[in-house]
Amino acid sequence: MSEFLHSRYRALSPYVPGEQPRDRSYIKLNTNESPFPPSDGVLSVINRQAVSDLRLYSDPEALVLKEALASEYGVGRENVFVSNGSDEALYFAFMAFSEDGIAFPDITYGFYRVFADLLHIPAKLVPLREDFTIQPGEYEDIHMAVVIANPNAPTGILLSTDEVERIAASNPEHVIIVDEAYIDFAGTGASCVPLIGKYRNLLVVQTFSKSRSLAGARVGYAIGDEALIRDLETLKFSVNPYNVNRLSMAAAAAAVRDRDYYQETSSWIVENRDFTEQGLRRMGFEVLPSKANFVFARTTRMDGAGLYQGLKERGILIRHFDSERIREYNRITIGSRENMERLLAAIEALLA
Ligand code: PMP
Repeated sequence: MSEFLHSRYRALSPYVPGEQPRDRSYIKLNTNESPFPPSDGVLSVINRQAVSDLRLYSDPEALVLKEALASEYGVGRENVFVSNGSDEALYFAFMAFSEDGIAFPDITYGFYRVFADLLHIPAKLVPLREDFTIQPGEYEDIHMAVVIANPNAPTGILLSTDEVERIAASNPEHVIIVDEAYIDFAGTGASCVPLIGKYRNLLVVQTFSKSRSLAGARVGYAIGDEALIRDLETLKFSVNPYNVNRLSMAAAAAAVRDRDYYQETSSWIVENRDFTEQGLRRMGFEVLPSKANFVFARTTRMDGAGLYQGLKERGILIRHFDSERIREYNRITIGSRENMERLLAAIEALLA
């Protein structure tokens, strides 16, 4: 740390992304990326003309992408905010809507705690139940903002839209942020987007990083009441009006248009998730019921850190969190069938 750093940030402990080692090639099952490439439509818009147009700024109103998303989700263009990864939409939402503090589960996406620290927002950590499910009743009449990852990370467990609705209905004075990064792996009817017309205080955040295979493009979005979106726009125009670059914007809009391809790849991942769960259970693992593109699992035959390390030595990266309650677990991204077969074989060898 330099002596120049503002005292406000001296104690900040930043988010630690999943490792991206370069020492050798790994089967990467540690950051919930898609094993599938982006669709052909995405490839076709990243062309010579698009590169030539990089001399121009990107559209600060993000019109083309907002219109594509609005028509995909049956909402108005004014109900859509687009961001540089969903992390940025979440960051602006924390900034905008947490004046009275923000509540979230004790075990969830690690960035929520970092944003709260960074922005000096009082955070209320609500413990998950023993079985790692969210206790929705704990968020009713809570008198502060709420953020819930749904499905939750790293557990993969889904809360029903009815439960989210009760939380939103009981807190009309505060914004309920539903982070649906993994919702496309959760089946039909799982998303809270259809509720945004009914609850002015509901903000749904999604991403192109998982089901749409564009993690490296960094595009996310939020859907909510027009007034909430305007607030996010005010913050965005106060920080970085061109927050989504031209190539990523074009890629994302093309991805929205290629719905069929992504529905197919997502259902393939769901199928592969079932295959992986079954394989792990056969070896005696306890696997939480996941609705995401990863599973969260433990075995009594080996400790969590040991399994992570053993697999790394065999060229397979998974994600281990060295924190209370979840130390014995590992989060494993669902990759290609071949990758999952190799994972299961490597675990079998390790346990032997
Ligand atoms: N929310 C959750 C729950 C996540 O796991 C992630 C991925 N790390 C994100 C949001 C952010 O994803 P991105 O910024 O790539 O859209």
